[in-house]
Amino acid sequence: MYGLKTDWLEPLQASAFTLDDYEGGVARWCPGCGDHAVLTSIQRLCRDEQLPPHKTMMVSGIGCSSRFPHYMKTYGFHGLHGRALPLAEGIRSRRPDLHIFVSTGDGDCCSIGAGHWIHAIRYNMNMTVMLFDNNVYGLTKNQSSPTSCQGQTSNTHPRGAWLKPLNPIQTTLGVINASFVAQTVDWNPVHLLATLKAAHRHQGLSFVRIMQRCPHFTDGIFDFARNEANGIKLMHHADGIPVDDAFKARFPNHVEHDPTNLNEARELADTEDAIPIGLFYRNNNADRYDEFSVEGLATPRAEKLKAVRGVLDGYRI
Ligand code: SF4
Repeated sequence: MYGLKTDWLEPLQASAFTLDDYEGGVARWCPGCGDHAVLTSIQRLCRDEQLPPHKTMMVSGIGCSSRFPHYMKTYGFHGLHGRALPLAEGIRSRRPDLHIFVSTGDGDCCSIGAGHWIHAIRYNMNMTVMLFDNNVYGLTKNQSSPTSCQGQTSNTHPRGAWLKPLNPIQTTLGVINASFVAQTVDWNPVHLLATLKAAHRHQGLSFVRIMQRCPHFTDGIFDFARNEANGIKLMHHADGIPVDDAFKARFPNHVEHDPTNLNEARELADTEDAIPIGLFYRNNNADRYDEFSVEGLATPRAEKLKAVRGVLDGYRI
């Protein structure tokens, strides 16, 4: 018998996206900026998970990290200062089929966007939120942000920031209905990628704070964690960010932490002598507002118009 036998054929993937399919414009961040590492990780995540570029959405506010959508060859929305989260929620409500990533900075999210941040955590709509935390407003040239360390000098506080910094992990853990709260660092590509992958696979809002180097304005603030053996505290658990034994062995300062234990998560978030990395908290059963807000999407246009007219008729005088 001649001809192709289909059972001899290798199974073909419906699509095979490569890194090229996600690489947008040339990134214009400063050399050595941690944002480059996050961009590379997200492009690798998209490739590894085979996310269709036309089904992937990058949303941002304003700031250095908010240039992220320009550097991805996916859909994107570079929004207003502090408004990335409501934009992403609107998109999620109309397009439940998209993979949504939000990039926001400590100034964008924790200051002008703080109200949206709190409610987005409570609404728990399915998306991956990356908080790039470099302890400063970088794009507007060195002003103190809510996470600037006490005593850190900037153009707004030349004699040093007066107040203690806000802890974004503690704040997020304090919001009812938080469902995924993790922390990682830009200079460890293995942990960074593993954390972002776990965040993307989580069904609900995953909040990932990324300690991000800004060599231009806050150079050296993470040196203690990069150079000292105990500067990083690795949290690990079977249900946490997956790390193997070889990886774990590189961190003498490590702790097993069950991510369902909220009280312990809060204690770990308060660690001052090291940067804890890993999954603080996960609740797979938290309510998701997007399961409600997509209702009616399939309603035909004529029916929608009829309903709107019916409501408007109620105001006729
Ligand atoms: Fe990165 Fe800082 Fe330069 Fe902004 S100012 S691009 S955060 S290094």
